[in-house]
Amino acid sequence: MARCLLGDGMITLQNITVSYQRHPAIHHVSGEISAGSLTALVGPNGGGKSTLLKTLKGLLKIEEGRIDYHGVALSDISFMPQAHQLEFQFPVSVEELVLLGNWRRARLCGHMHKDASHQLEHALEAVGLGGFGSRRINTLSVGQLQRALFARAIIEESKMILLDEPFSAIDSNTTDALWKIIHQWQKQGRTVVIAMHDLARVKEHCPNTVLIAREVIGWGETSKVLTAKNLAHAKTMVEAWDDHAPACVA
Ligand code: ADP
Ligand code: MG
Repeated sequence: MARCLLGDGMITLQNITVSYQRHPAIHHVSGEISAGSLTALVGPNGGGKSTLLKTLKGLLKIEEGRIDYHGVALSDISFMPQAHQLEFQFPVSVEELVLLGNWRRARLCGHMHKDASHQLEHALEAVGLGGFGSRRINTLSVGQLQRALFARAIIEESKMILLDEPFSAIDSNTTDALWKIIHQWQKQGRTVVIAMHDLARVKEHCPNTVLIAREVIGWGETSKVLTAKNLAHAKTMVEAWDDHAPACVA
């Protein structure tokens, strides 16, 4: 696997602004994500967490500022969207969904991994979906679908993994199992960013935190970012927003 995980992988954001219909969803965002780090992305609903993750994956146009990917191609980044935002009505099996993760590696390493089916079963078992391979994804619950996407991220072996609220429809036992997987990714040197709400879990698991409420309120060591003062500030920023305000011309 190391063969496929070369590169330094630091990512720097300088003064990023991303807008929808000229209304900034994230504004003047600067910060650094170091290689192999585990970062929580927290903040109120509508604070720009999903927008920031999609921007890191290159899915949204940057209106202002720049992102430097040091030794990381966009194809090295796995993005796991919020499961409830996905439309999974088409007739694809869990196995097919999860194995999509293997195409990239097959291309990079020049051959399809010999024990793909063993790897598939291992990934499904790791997320508590052992034996679900042939199930159609449109028969899964949101939580099961979320776990299938996790299994896909296991197989993808990307340098960087962006998870958008992966625990929102998942019970606490499964959440513990998924954290074990996240920590394994970190041991393998992968960079992980997770948008999430449970601050107790953030403090327990994530050394670094970004607190965002359209603008960055704190970016760094979790204990220094998640202060009562910063959290209160995030709340007031959301209350002060006016989505009907004139478009930003700055
Ligand atoms: P979060 O993930 O923190 O809840 P989002 O990044 O989804 O926040 O949203 C940030 C802001 O951008 C919100 O005000 C939201 O309404 C707006 N927004 C998000 N997606 C779109 C979109 N596709 N079109 C217009 N506005 C959007
Ligand atoms: Mg979101």
